Amino acid sequence: MAKILIIDDSKLILHVAKSILSKQSHQVLVAEDGKTGLQKAAIEHPDLILLDLILPGIDGYQVCQQIKKATITSDIPVIMLTSKSEPSDKVRGLEMGASDYVTKPFDEGELVARVNIHLQIRELHENLKEKNRQLKEMANRDGLTGLHNHRYFQETISKDFQRALRYHESLSCVMLDIDHFKKFNDTYGHQTGDIVLETLGGLIDKLTRASDLSARYGGEEFALLMYHTASQEAFMVAERLRKAVEQHKFQADNQVLTVTISLGVVSFPHLEIANAKAMIECADKALYRAKKEGRNRVVVF
Ligand code: GH3
Ligand code: MG
Ligand code: MG
Repeated sequence: MAKILIIDDSKLILHVAKSILSKQSHQVLVAEDGKTGLQKAAIEHPDLILLDLILPGIDGYQVCQQIKKATITSDIPVIMLTSKSEPSDKVRGLEMGASDYVTKPFDEGELVARVNIHLQIRELHENLKEKNRQLKEMANRDGLTGLHNHRYFQETISKDFQRALRYHESLSCVMLDIDHFKKFNDTYGHQTGDIVLETLGGLIDKLTRASDLSARYGGEEFALLMYHTASQEAFMVAERLRKAVEQHKFQADNQVLTVTISLGVVSFPHLEIANAKAMIECADKALYRAKKEGRNRVVVF
């Protein structure tokens, strides 16, 4: 069942088209002039529009043009209803963005067939758009942890650092790395290591705000970006994460294992941080110090 809007100033045409399409169990809405039609198209967002070309006030060509121009209605297929047989009218309508036309008085079978074809095309188009959206989302994610990936993190921090700079907002970045993970892998195997990485991804996701960004930066290294967050608060989040990981009992191969992480925190505004690259470098330096000072700790740059 689809929602179809018919815009026509003839009560007879509205009645006939409505009864034909209702029989196909479509939900039918009607409008008797262009202005009402445009309003209904925007509010009701029908799956398809049947549009008379000759209308009082705004004519059908203009209505079609406006439907195709507005982002919220541009995807709705428009079928012109034309009583004229001159091809130039049809061509003009198609040039305005209509998908097809039906000549009045219409044949029931033809109207139904054309409506169904364009509903099908629209559905295929919608499915394709959704698939594309999913693909794009997948391309931004890390396969193992489901967190955002390195590329997405880089893109986002570059963009968001510029915004923080322009609007004088605070922004914090945390780099964290699992301690002695090479030894862990050597002892328990790479697959067990993967389970730890996956579980850690889940912990990070759970302990950070949905509005913040968490990513797998690479290997056993993760990165967080926290918006409107100054140094002290960022330190608290990092410390909470450190404790949670230290206390977490990782379950793998019927074993209960533990790991620790080291974290480097950096917050903007900071004299040494003029761009996103510097922000990452400074978070890395802080992380390096956390490692050098004994691991399982948070160091603020
Ligand atoms: P440190 O405390 O200094 O960070 O020591 P480390 O052993 O963690 O650091 P190092 O950089 O020497 O080794 C990182 C290890 O992380 C090496 C590699 O075996 C492991 N690793 C990186 N990516 C993955 C992965 O995708 N899966 C698993 N299982 N291990 C990984
Ligand atoms: Mg490590
Ligand atoms: Mg590392």
